[in-house]
Amino acid sequence: AKREGRGRVCFFESEMDQELRDRRLLQHDLRQALEQNQLLVYFQPQARMDGEVIGFEALLRWNHPTRGFVPPDQFIPLAEENGLIVEIGEWVLREACREAASWPRPLQVAVNLSPVQFQTGDLERVIHQILLETGLSPTRLEVEITEGVLIGDFTRALTLLRRLKALGVRIAMDDFGTGYSSLSYLQSFPFDKIKIDRSFISNLEAKPQSAEIVRAVLSLAHALNIPVVAEGVETEAQRAFLAHEACEEMQGYLVGRPELIERYLDLVGVAVER
Ligand code: C2E
Ligand code: CA
Ligand code: CA
Ligand code: CA
Repeated sequence: AKREGRGRVCFFESEMDQELRDRRLLQHDLRQALEQNQLLVYFQPQARMDGEVIGFEALLRWNHPTRGFVPPDQFIPLAEENGLIVEIGEWVLREACREAASWPRPLQVAVNLSPVQFQTGDLERVIHQILLETGLSPTRLEVEITEGVLIGDFTRALTLLRRLKALGVRIAMDDFGTGYSSLSYLQSFPFDKIKIDRSFISNLEAKPQSAEIVRAVLSLAHALNIPVVAEGVETEAQRAFLAHEACEEMQGYLVGRPELIERYLDLVGVAVER
């Protein structure tokens, strides 16, 4: 924007300029968010089709001092841009594993990994260290990756995934069906789980195509012996359809929203001391 005199900015700043400025401001604030404890980990239950909860997905929240809660879809891309996601991602992993270590044994925790965490840093060592430090059994940790992880340095990502798997950590393919190459990735890595993207589930009733796609994904996954989680299950009708099609697990508002773990005390028992 064009400056006019002392600190006055012209009114015809374009929308794009404003957006860019706002992103820079947020990015600046994000640097302090970790130190000032503005980041929180919420947990959303994952359940079998009969409703039995088997674990939780860790979902990052940012409680900004003036803006309030900023959605992860808005700030995670910024953190990926400036590399801060490496530090933030490590913090989420540590919090999630520390929490899960106090839960009753069979309950597991799922943590999202950014493609940037695969490119930089020593992800395998970090995860190994966190597991030792928190005492969480590796088999109770699942990491969720999107195809973005495999689009970058494919060989490097595969090596890392194999090492994580060798530790006993499980690997889930997130947002299945939304990318360009979901299918080809199924032949390059033995995923432990497939998460069907919410867009297909929320359109189950409205679009006949969605039901066919969900059926096809389930039949493909089952032919490959990979269990499936349906994301974004909100209604009993959706649950019933998925159960009928032999989908293994579900996650969504029908079972529970992402919340502070204290809200799920009935499921996880006594909260861990902070
Ligand atoms: P995601 O991994 O696909 O997470 C699922 C998203 O769907 C979450 O949004 C969750 O709140 C939402 N959701 C779950 N069930 C329902 C439902 O029944 N209805 C509707 N409408 N929504 C539902 P959220 O928490 O806003 O996170 C958005 C995305 O941000 C995540 O998508 C993930 O890609 C990213 N993200 C969140 N936490 C982390 C993190 O710690 N690290 C990284 N790298 N990414 C994260
Ligand atoms: Ca996820
Ligand atoms: Ca997802
Ligand atoms: Ca998603």
